[in-house]
Amino acid sequence: MQRSLEHKRAAQAQVPWAALRAQAHALKKDAIEHLGSLLAEFERNFIARGGTVIWARTADEAAERFIRICRDAGAESVVKGKSMLSEELELNERLRVAGIAAVETDLGEFIVQLAGQKPTHVIAPAAHLSRQDVGRIFERELKMPYCDDPQKLSLAARTLLRERYLKAGVGMTGVNFAIAESGTLVVVENEGNGGLSASVPPVHIAIMGIEKVIRRVADLDVFLPLLARAGTGQKITTYTHHFLGPEPGKRQYCIIVDAGRTNLLADPVLRESLYCIRCGACMNVCPVYRRVGGGAYGWVYPGPIGAVVTGAMLGTQEASDLPYASTLCGACKEECPVAIDLPRQLLYLRASAVESGAKGGALERSAIRRFAAAMSDAKAYQRAVSLLRTALAIGAALPIRFGALGRWMRARAIPKPARQSFREWWARRS
Ligand code: SF4
Repeated sequence: MQRSLEHKRAAQAQVPWAALRAQAHALKKDAIEHLGSLLAEFERNFIARGGTVIWARTADEAAERFIRICRDAGAESVVKGKSMLSEELELNERLRVAGIAAVETDLGEFIVQLAGQKPTHVIAPAAHLSRQDVGRIFERELKMPYCDDPQKLSLAARTLLRERYLKAGVGMTGVNFAIAESGTLVVVENEGNGGLSASVPPVHIAIMGIEKVIRRVADLDVFLPLLARAGTGQKITTYTHHFLGPEPGKRQYCIIVDAGRTNLLADPVLRESLYCIRCGACMNVCPVYRRVGGGAYGWVYPGPIGAVVTGAMLGTQEASDLPYASTLCGACKEECPVAIDLPRQLLYLRASAVESGAKGGALERSAIRRFAAAMSDAKAYQRAVSLLRTALAIGAALPIRFGALGRWMRARAIPKPARQSFREWWARRS
């Protein structure tokens, strides 16, 4: 982790990082403030290039339209480039139910698909797996001899996937940027799989959230160096594809999806989260994410940005715990290449949860009052610490196995307190 951060810092030092961040923030702000007109401009220009635009208000609608195109094309399989939106739509499962095979072609996505798991990071979907884990998954699922050499494993995946591109009736990609003035789709990636998914099958379907639109091609001068450096510490990603309409004899669709994004747009504070370019940097530095991993966030987007957008995008109160999955240390804000003020949004969501009654019940308020009283009086503090040490000693010796506390403790061990506190030790020593 330390080495990868140093690598990123070195890459960031090669450009006027602070100025680029400020510029990116301003460009995204402008794009989101003029979202309606920019999307309309993009649509006009994309159609003029021979493509077809489909608007989808919900994830269900988007998946349904996607499957309809596949059926019209007679596709039995779809090769997929990397896309977090596809995870939102639960596209693999929906395609399976429709009798169409979905083949992930990004190596990390391919691994998690083979393992029957979900991605745990927006740019490194298999970040939670070791190469030994991957070796075992390949041995089990691809019936190949166990091996944990990353090069040999990548080659095995590549050999298998080459043949799938040729058989697929549809290729799918996500979209990093949709350029309004030219109607082009820009996809950045490192493996070449996005380009192959878009260009080998006769039909290319690009899926994008409404927030992906930017005003001008020239804006990429700001976004591309930021995205690569913040995401992986590269100066530029290996491939930057500009899809300029369908090739002769082929078809190209762009499905533009809302799926809860207008809930964020309607909120003056949360709107800023739509500036996100999905680089994953806020996750890499978040002490909570680094401890619990991406699976703990319960939906597609983990880390600080996931804690901000999940509730609003799903339109549910169930995610009201997520804004509390933060120490508010501010590392995410410092790291974000588009300077999104994530801690401000997390605090705002906490306040909203209390106002709506989802959080801050009588028990919690009373606990916080007691905590505040103990922290503001030295004697009360010492009594509270002594009480806590006794409770910990009892809890460690007699773990509770029933009720809500029992369920919570099933996955946690209570630390046994030291025989004497620091204060006691200090007093004796003096
Ligand atoms: S919020 Fe910022 S740091 Fe986090 S994924 Fe989005 S752009 Fe990257």
